[in-house]
Amino acid sequence: MKRLFLIIGAPGSGKTTDAQRIAQKYPERVVHYSTGELLRAQVERGTKLGETIASYVDRGALVPLEIVMDTIEEAIKESDKEIVLIDGFPRSVQQMEALDRMLQANPQIALEKVVEIVVSPKTAKERVLGRGRGADDNEEVFHNRMQVYLEPLPQIEAFYQERGHLAKVDGERSIEEIVQDIEKLIFHQQQ
Ligand code: AMP
Repeated sequence: MKRLFLIIGAPGSGKTTDAQRIAQKYPERVVHYSTGELLRAQVERGTKLGETIASYVDRGALVPLEIVMDTIEEAIKESDKEIVLIDGFPRSVQQMEALDRMLQANPQIALEKVVEIVVSPKTAKERVLGRGRGADDNEEVFHNRMQVYLEPLPQIEAFYQERGHLAKVDGERSIEEIVQDIEKLIFHQQQ
């Protein structure tokens, strides 16, 4: 049985860093995938698929559903750890519904929590423009990514709230405090 935890948050919320920390701390039990990083890795491979992905990522637009779902499904299935953390997914209502179908078809994967790292738009913007990761970390693309993040959020929150999966974590604090909150969500049943 695999226990799946999804970590969502605005660009600059720190979701990837937080999840990475946890995976590094518990390497025997936890594996982490960042959806954005998985997609950027494809781009770096220089394949035709990578070119298609880049045309979306560079604009801050969502990569098409089928590509994202294949990426996520492959990551979950290849992981050999009990606890799987995925950040940056789902990012649309379509992805959320497709995940639901995937989970129904794969009863060995149990979705446990969808952790939303909450930061103000101001904090998000300062962090993103400060890090200059690549073509998508400029002001115009940031606004687009923020829009793309916020638009489906109420529906995603409502869906997971109703199923008892949603947990909000205040992302304006230190990484240590945020990580501790996420760890509590992951390990409370078993520690
Ligand atoms: P991130 O590293 O999470 O900021 O994501 C960087 C970019 O990767 C996004 O702006 C999107 O273009 C793409 N991306 C990441 N996650 C997803 C997703 N779940 N669905 C579609 N595109 C995504």
